[in-house]
Amino acid sequence: MTSSCEADAVHNVLLISFDGFRWDYYKKANNLTNIHRMIADGGWAVNGTKNVFITKTLPNHFTMVTGLYEETHGIVGNVMYDPVFNATYYGMNTTIQSESRWYTGEPIWVTNQRQRTDYRSGCVCWPSSGAVLEGFRPYQHIPWKTAEDFPYKERFKTAVKWFTDHENPTNLVLVYIDNPDIIGHTFGPDSDELIHELLVLDEALGYLFDLLIDEDLLKKTDIILTSDHGMASIPKDDSYKIDLTKYLTPGTYFVTDTSPTAGIFPTSPEFEDAIFHNLSSIQHAKVYRKANIPTEFHFKNNRRTPPIVVIPEEHYWCSDNNTYIAGNHGYSNDVADMHPFFAAMGPSFKKGSKVMTFNSVDVYPMLCAILGLKPAPNNGSMDVVAELLVDRLKENTGSTFGTYIFILIVGGLVSGVFAVAACQVQRQLRRRRYQSHPIHKLPKSMMIVPSSGKEDAVIGLLSDMSDEEF
Ligand SMILES: [Zn+2]
Repeated sequence: MTSSCEADAVHNVLLISFDGFRWDYYKKANNLTNIHRMIADGGWAVNGTKNVFITKTLPNHFTMVTGLYEETHGIVGNVMYDPVFNATYYGMNTTIQSESRWYTGEPIWVTNQRQRTDYRSGCVCWPSSGAVLEGFRPYQHIPWKTAEDFPYKERFKTAVKWFTDHENPTNLVLVYIDNPDIIGHTFGPDSDELIHELLVLDEALGYLFDLLIDEDLLKKTDIILTSDHGMASIPKDDSYKIDLTKYLTPGTYFVTDTSPTAGIFPTSPEFEDAIFHNLSSIQHAKVYRKANIPTEFHFKNNRRTPPIVVIPEEHYWCSDNNTYIAGNHGYSNDVADMHPFFAAMGPSFKKGSKVMTFNSVDVYPMLCAILGLKPAPNNGSMDVVAELLVDRLKENTGSTFGTYIFILIVGGLVSGVFAVAACQVQRQLRRRRYQSHPIHKLPKSMMIVPSSGKEDAVIGLLSDMSDEEF
């Protein structure tokens, strides 16, 4: 794949995440001119992407850049407890967020720098980009900051400055914007405040276009605008609140990722049955023991996955002394309101192309395709996203598959005709193909982490730090 794609990778790639930008927010106002321009001028997922469970910020941002499910990359919550580390990950704490030990997998900014010595990556406030991963840091990096500390237009200005650096330009930049998530939480997805924030973001996007036009880069830059999750409205009515303290005995449990979905850790294994039994009487929520969490969530096979998970129906929310907020996310990824927006334009995307939806694990292999890079092992696929790409990139994808099939056919013929004389050579060929297949190429460190059985060793109480605002 790489040899034919390398010649195409003469342009820049800019991945933008508007945190909490739900798949249908583009409909909220007619004058979201720049967002509508992206839909019309490039490739678009009409119903957005299907993100991964748990539909929270840190887990989904890492999925987007690695193509891995949460149970594989290890970030199974904004707040999560690791029984082997006997430590808690707080995604909002930039020091903890930058600790390499929490992450498994190769993000796109590493793939970009690892495969081409002339390629450089830059990350503006992107979640988890402060960690050294697979031995690499992004060449350019600005850690997570608030909008007050680092305004959105400045973030785009920084990206363009990096692209145009005369000495050492970047070819890939990721820009993170922490809205409309904050406004969605505070005022709800149906509020006037949310529409106002969308207009602010749209204007910032227009500012980016102007900067790129000034540098003659707009037509040479692939711009991908997407998000980590959507947002559901939360009625103020108390009947939507699931007060966990009514079901549980103090001292027998602690909670991670408290709302709307809650992860419950018994403080001792002897409490687990009673906790599960009590929680099972909750209305408007599904309560799972870890082993029974639906396989399609790709969430349960990690030692950090809580022993018990409570997943409310949309609009309901678990509370462990949490205060009410008007909007939230974290529900099942089958809930449409959890799905993120996706549109992309630039030299790699076919103008006016669209698909109904695709999985967010496909973003990573798509980025690799447009950068001309060989993807690291991942859970994604090019099957659907290839429809958004220009023909020369689709051909590359197709020719790669065709080459693979050709090798298999030739290999079969050779083994049939020269069964005896060539058997040793054939074995070597087969072994080589086997080793190069993504599934079998997963290094041990990327394999599913087995449950340690040490949940009972939990002794640390989680702080009351809220994860509601990201
Ligand atoms: Zn988010």
